Amino acid sequence: MYRSHNCGELSAAHINTEVTLAGWVQKSRDKGFIVWVDLRDRYGITQLVFDEERTSKDLIDQAQNLGREFVIQVKGKVIERASKNANIPTGDIEILVSELKVLNESILPPFTIEDKTDGGEDIRMKYRYLDIRRNPVKNSLIFRHKVTQEVRNYLSKEGFIEVETPYLIKSTPEGARDFVVPSRMNEGQFYALPQSPQTFKQLLMVGGMDKYFQIVKCFRDEDLRADRQPEFTQIDCEMAFIEQEDILNAFEGLTRHLLKEVNGVDVEKFPRLLYDDAMRLYGNDKPDIRFGMQFGELNEVAQHKDFGVFNNAELVVGIAVPGGNSYTRKEIDKLIDWVKRPQVGALGMIYSRCNDDGTFKSSVDKFYDQDDLRKWAEVTGAKPGDLICVLSGNTNKVRAQLSALRMELAERLGLRNPKEFAPLWVMDFPLLEWDENTERYHAMHHPFTSPKPGQLELLKTNPGEVKANAYDLVLNGNEIGGGSIRIHDKQTQSLMFDYLGFTPEEAKAQFGFLMDAFQYGAPPHGGLAFGLDRLVAILGGQETIRDFIAFPKNNSGRDVMIDAPAAIDDEQLTELGLQLNLKS
Ligand code: ASP
Repeated sequence: MYRSHNCGELSAAHINTEVTLAGWVQKSRDKGFIVWVDLRDRYGITQLVFDEERTSKDLIDQAQNLGREFVIQVKGKVIERASKNANIPTGDIEILVSELKVLNESILPPFTIEDKTDGGEDIRMKYRYLDIRRNPVKNSLIFRHKVTQEVRNYLSKEGFIEVETPYLIKSTPEGARDFVVPSRMNEGQFYALPQSPQTFKQLLMVGGMDKYFQIVKCFRDEDLRADRQPEFTQIDCEMAFIEQEDILNAFEGLTRHLLKEVNGVDVEKFPRLLYDDAMRLYGNDKPDIRFGMQFGELNEVAQHKDFGVFNNAELVVGIAVPGGNSYTRKEIDKLIDWVKRPQVGALGMIYSRCNDDGTFKSSVDKFYDQDDLRKWAEVTGAKPGDLICVLSGNTNKVRAQLSALRMELAERLGLRNPKEFAPLWVMDFPLLEWDENTERYHAMHHPFTSPKPGQLELLKTNPGEVKANAYDLVLNGNEIGGGSIRIHDKQTQSLMFDYLGFTPEEAKAQFGFLMDAFQYGAPPHGGLAFGLDRLVAILGGQETIRDFIAFPKNNSGRDVMIDAPAAIDDEQLTELGLQLNLKS
C-alpha cells in the first residue's frame, strides 16, 4: 500500500493517527535541527515535520537531501500544528515523520510548480507534465471533467446514445482543409481526418439511432487564429423526427443544466435573435448581450445634410457609450486611432457628446444642429452623460468595425463580467455565403443544411437571400454551438450540390454514400455541435481554451513537448509509396 490517505484529506479529526502518504516535494524549510516539507499530490498539500528531538538525526539528514519535485513516501503520526494555516484544508495538522523513502528523484524543474509560476508559456508547454502539477491547469482539467460528466449525464437521461464514429474517413468538406493520412495498404490513397462526424451522424439517423451524441475530436487544417487548435473537441448531437423547435429546446436544456450544475446559475429562457437582426443591432452574428450598446442606424437622420462622408456611405451607424462624455478630447482621439488601426480598419470616427444639460457637442457641429444631434441620441438610445460614436461606409465592413469598437469599449468599461452568463440563439442564417476569392457561393454552415421552407426556388434567382434552417448558440459573445435541420431527400441534396458548383460526378464521388442512404427512407433529422473547449473555458470564466486542454498545440499548430509535426524517415515514406517534393 503506497498510501493510507492523500495529501488533501487529513484534518484535526485525524490527530494521533498513524498514516502513510506519498507525493511530490513542493518545498522545504530547513532550520538545522528541524525540517518542514510540503508534500503535494492532486488532492492538496500536507506539511511534514522532521524533528531531530522527536525522531532521529538520520532522518533529518535524509530530509535535508530532498530536492524539489522528489517523489517520496512517508510514514508518521498526525499531530497538531503549532502555527496553523487557515488557507489550506490540512492547515491544522502536520505529520511527524518516522520513516522516509525516496521513490524517485527529480532534476531541478525548469520553472516553479506554484500557482503563480515564473515559467513563461513556451517553457510550460514544453514541460506540460510539470505544468499540469500546478493548480490552475490541474483544476481546469478537473473542471473539464465535471462538464463532460454533466453532458453525459444529461444527454443519457434524455435518451441520447453515445456512438463513436471513425477518425479515418473520406473528406467531408465543411469549409476547412482536411488533414490527410496516407494509406499503406492502399498505395496512393489517403484517409482524411474528420472535420466533424457530420455525415456519419446523419447516417446514424438513417440507421434509426434516433438520438445520438458523441464527445469527439475534430480536425481542421486551417490557418490558426489566436486560441484555435487544429484538433478540438465537439459535443456532437443529432436527432430524428424533430423540428427546429425540438432541437432548440433540447440543447437549451443541456446548456441550462450545465450552467446550473457547474456554475450554480439559473438562466431564464434563452432569447432568440434572427441573424439579420443580430447583424443590424450588434454588427455580429455572435453578439455579447451581457450589456446593451445596441447599434442605431442613422442613415435617415444623418444623410442629406452637407456632410459628404455620410451622404456617400451605404450605412451610417452609431452606439452610445455609457458615461462616455467624461472622456477627454485626448481619450477620444485615442479611440479614433484605435478604430483606424489596420486590425479594425475604419477611416475615421465621428462623435457627439451628450452633455448633462441635454445639449450636444459633436465633431461635426458645422453640419448638424442640436435637433439633428438629438435624433442621433434617440436612435442610439444615448442619455445625458453618454458619448455617441458613429462610423460610416460599406455596410458589412462598418458593422464589423463598430462591433469591434463595441466590444473594446465594453471591456474597458468592465461590462464583460465572466461570472455573468447571457446565452441566446441566433437563427435563420443565410444558406450561402459569397466567397470573394473563388467568386462563388459556399454553404455558410455546410452543404447538408436545408433551406427555409419555400425558399428553394429563390436559390435560382437570388441565392444570397436564401435563409437556412440553421442556428447558433451564443454565450457571452462566443459561438459555442451551431447546427441545422438537414436535407433528407436525394433530390434536394443533389440540387444543393449542383448550386454549390459540384458536377453530378463530383457529388457522386464525394457523397454518393449519403445520397444512396437517402434513398432508403431517411427520416427528417437535424442536430448541432458544441465546441467543448470553448464552452468549458467560458463556464470556467476564462478567455483562453489552452488551460482546459491537457496537451494543447501552440499558435503554429506545434506540440512543442513531443515536437510534432516532424519528418518521417525514408523507410516509412517508401513503405507508403510517397516521395517528398518540398517547396522550401
Ligand atoms: N457538423 C457541424 C459543425 O461541426 C455541426 C452540425 O451541423 O451539427 O459545425
